[in-house]
Amino acid sequence: MIDVQKIRQDFPILQRQVNGKPLVYFDNAATSQTPQVVINTIVDYYTNYNANIHRGVHSLSQEATDAYELARHKVQTHFNAKHAHEVILTSGTTHSINIVATGFTSLLQKGDEIIVSAMEHHSNIVPWQMLCERTGAVLKVIPMNQEGTLIMEEYDTLLSNKTKLVFVNHVSNALGTINPIREIIKKAHALDAAVLIDGAQASPHIKADVQELDVDFYVVSAHKLCGPTGVGMLYGKESWLNKLPPYQGGGEMIDQVTFEKTTYAGLPHKFEAGTPNICGGIAFGAALDYMNNIGFDAIAAYEAELLEYATQKLLKIDGLKIYGTAQEKTAVISFNIGTIHPYDIGTIVDKLGIAVRTGHHCAQPIMDFYKIPGTVRASFAFYNTKEEIDLMIDALQKAAMMLG
Ligand SMILES: *Cc1c(COP(=O)(O)O)cnc(C)c1O
Repeated sequence: MIDVQKIRQDFPILQRQVNGKPLVYFDNAATSQTPQVVINTIVDYYTNYNANIHRGVHSLSQEATDAYELARHKVQTHFNAKHAHEVILTSGTTHSINIVATGFTSLLQKGDEIIVSAMEHHSNIVPWQMLCERTGAVLKVIPMNQEGTLIMEEYDTLLSNKTKLVFVNHVSNALGTINPIREIIKKAHALDAAVLIDGAQASPHIKADVQELDVDFYVVSAHKLCGPTGVGMLYGKESWLNKLPPYQGGGEMIDQVTFEKTTYAGLPHKFEAGTPNICGGIAFGAALDYMNNIGFDAIAAYEAELLEYATQKLLKIDGLKIYGTAQEKTAVISFNIGTIHPYDIGTIVDKLGIAVRTGHHCAQPIMDFYKIPGTVRASFAFYNTKEEIDLMIDALQKAAMMLG
């Protein structure tokens, strides 16, 4: 089980004060905090073996290369990819999705259909709209109901032999809904359509097994699971990664270059043009080690307790409405109090040391669906406590009194 007080010692930022109050950090769905072991990994890299990788014969370069490739191996093991070269280290989820969406340009034809869900982050919408503009493919949307659950019967009717690709998030960052990705993948595969799962919001809570899911692409950002910003994963099945053209040209991604013709490197380097975020990649590996030491089952069980506790307490606040009440959800709560603007609530609770997110959470279609400008979003991690939730409830009551 989780020893939360011990875990909190691992996160130096949790000791600080904000506006004279102890920090209560409930913006974990936007980015997670960083444990000391990951900070140490970053300091160690720049202190002791900072060098460019893969090209150098000198010792520092070899040390950095070994550490970077070890990190790739850790990512591979964590997500259970069959091959290390199926793990492309990118700058994050957005970059990963753009690699796939751009790569599909040559694989789609006018009139082909691609399917998204109604509860996506903008980074899993816009690159595909751009793909449609380039190819004449048509974007279809799986609708959701008031609870924030996808209407799977509608998915069935959207699927056809025109369907080439389906891309859905594993967990919605705005609502917390855990989507039925197994079923989504299975039904798409029955029609030979490829599936990309945006795992950015699921990865801090659920350990995905890409082989067991039989998913074609799975993408995450390290900064949502205790790692640094600017690094992430594109997992792709070998067969798909071989089919897709490179995304960027440059160093590292080539085999032979002449002015007449260039041949590309094999996987994973074909998709890793230029000097990567070497330190970030190594720190990503350290972050996965840290979280696996705690254990994802323990994390999920503890966060479910926080979610239940916070939900019950929040619902006692007069006029408070929660958006996203799916049966299966992670520890994300989006809400509004009466007609008070979320931004005003966020500003007042910040004065009391409480960090929540306000706005559309990069998911404007969800806000349009509920006909609201945005929500206040509290999102929890395994280092949060019930006492912190109590502090938030007090702060929200104060805000409601001042603004209501
Ligand atoms: C955070 C998030 C993204 C975007 O991740 P970046 O790190 O900004 O690229 C995409 N999808 C979901 C579901 C997210 O939560």
